[in-house]
Amino acid sequence: MCGIFGYRGARDAAQIVFCGLRDLQYRGYDSWGIASIGRSGLEVQKNTGALPGQIKGFTKSHLSIGHTRWATHGGVSIKNSHPHISCDKRFVVVHNGIIENARQIKSQLQGAHVFASDTDTEVIVHYLEENVSKRSFMNAMKDLIAIIMGHSAFVVLDCKTQGLYAYRSGSPLVLGRREGEL
Ligand code: GLU
Repeated sequence: MCGIFGYRGARDAAQIVFCGLRDLQYRGYDSWGIASIGRSGLEVQKNTGALPGQIKGFTKSHLSIGHTRWATHGGVSIKNSHPHISCDKRFVVVHNGIIENARQIKSQLQGAHVFASDTDTEVIVHYLEENVSKRSFMNAMKDLIAIIMGHSAFVVLDCKTQGLYAYRSGSPLVLGRREGEL
């Protein structure tokens, strides 16, 4: 069980995500992480342990995702903390749940992709990176959700298009929308 949160809109995205994670912290508190697209491009902070009282160091951003982790695959460490990032740094993911066939998917991607963690989650971003060059992003995403097994919810940030994509199957996810904000 983990807490995942994403925000796109006019307010300070990293701070909104941080507030969201504080509310979701009961769902996982062995590590945390936030990714945000700011002035210098992709900015990431992660650490083991509970969320700090405040976060500093993110530049103003309108697009951010975050995670509080309760580890299922891979120990409690900074490298296993979410978000996880594709090799080309285009895709960033936070994930709640288990990808039961992650090992098989990873074995097909290894060689072409360098895995930085021991998590099941990381296959999501490498799979998208591998397949987006052959198909459209949405088709790569459809293929991904057709092959992953188990209950999951995740949010993917596409740094290239500044898109935010959410998926759930068997795990809870709430979508909140209002004018100019998601
Ligand atoms: N399976 C992922 C991990 O271990 C997500 C954990 C969870 O949802 O509890 O990082």
